[in-house]
Amino acid sequence: MLIQENLALAPLTTMQVGGPARFFVEGKTIAEVQEAIRFARSRNLPLFVLGGGSNLVIADAGWPGLVLKIGILGIDEHDKDGNAIFEVGAGEEWDKFVARAVARNCAGVECLSGIPGSVGGTPVQNVGAYGQEVSETIESVVTLDLRDDEIRELCNEACGFNYRTSIFNTSERERFIILRVSYALKPGGQPRIEYADLKNHFGGSRSAPTLGATREAVRRIRASKAMLITPGDPDSHSAGSFFKNPVISDEQHNDLNRRATARGLQIPIYPALDAQHKISAAWLVEHSGFRKGYIDGTVGISSKHALAIVNRGGASAADIVALKERIQRRVEETWGVCLQHEPAFVGF
Ligand SMILES: Cc1cc2nc3c(=O)[nH]c(=O)nc-3n(C[C@H](O)[C@H](O)[C@H](O)COP(=O)(O)OP(=O)(O)OC[C@H]3O[C@@H](n4cnc5c(N)ncnc54)[C@H](O)[C@@H]3O)c2cc1C
Repeated sequence: MLIQENLALAPLTTMQVGGPARFFVEGKTIAEVQEAIRFARSRNLPLFVLGGGSNLVIADAGWPGLVLKIGILGIDEHDKDGNAIFEVGAGEEWDKFVARAVARNCAGVECLSGIPGSVGGTPVQNVGAYGQEVSETIESVVTLDLRDDEIRELCNEACGFNYRTSIFNTSERERFIILRVSYALKPGGQPRIEYADLKNHFGGSRSAPTLGATREAVRRIRASKAMLITPGDPDSHSAGSFFKNPVISDEQHNDLNRRATARGLQIPIYPALDAQHKISAAWLVEHSGFRKGYIDGTVGISSKHALAIVNRGGASAADIVALKERIQRRVEETWGVCLQHEPAFVGF
């Protein structure tokens, strides 16, 4: 196991900002992960667990302790009660696993095609897109519990999944290292075509699309919004959606409508969001003076998606944070809604 010192972290993230790790190591087996933890403890170093770096803002000062990248690979398949169970190493690339599941004609993750990052990152914020979330297919998560160093398998319910949350990024943050994730998929199942973008894509076709066609459609739609990492696309230096869609009460909804009417606007209704009492964060951002393509020096907003803050080249973490705070302030002043950020902030 190679422990490196003062390793630059920015190139290991999609946002490409932030300083170095004091120490850095990749754990490719459970034994290596355990050894890395012993190293950190023996030197009293704070530990940060890194996956694919696609949901992070690293501070300019970097990380003062050990960054442990989870590199555990392997995908095993078996059948259980009519489901295809895929046991996947946390270090596997998420989209590679989705491609494999779709190639095996197994339904359940096709709408999550093209999301960057690692398999181990997906339970953390209950990754979701186009009407699907990993909480619907995760059967269990094998973890290393840092409280007592036991390997624990958590069933789906124990993970406490909710919209962009789980116990891993809320109540039990920093307690578990995710080693493997088991997904229960439906062999020969139908793709989920619920979101308007997907329905429109297949609007003209009479027969139900295949899982493969759905995967391709999702990737194409994502690419058009710079939500697919595409080499050479400056809009893909982001952490994806920077803000969560706010869940609001009826009272807040009425207040929003009043504010919109006063401006001669109408709050758009998206059935999929409406059903969960959510409103579009992208709409709030765009109607607070931050349009797609907004530029402020080295940072800006993606020209293809109002929710993605982008590093236009040479940005610092402080630049990203300053823009994030400006957007939050303006949205709150204009709409009375407090936007919550989605990426993890590391070393701040
Ligand atoms: C272009 C783009 C599009 C995106 N689209 C979506 C989308 O549609 N839907 C969506 O939900 N997200 C989206 N994201 C966000 C991101 O891709 C996901 O949240 C992804 O699952 C993060 O995984 P990661 O491996 O990159 O995690 P990292 O960014 O490395 O880490 C994120 C957090 O998870 C923790 N973590 C990671 N791995 C482990 C592990 N093995 N054990 C314990 N903790 C761990 C880290 O400590 C950190 O707190 C997008 C990001 C980008 C850049």
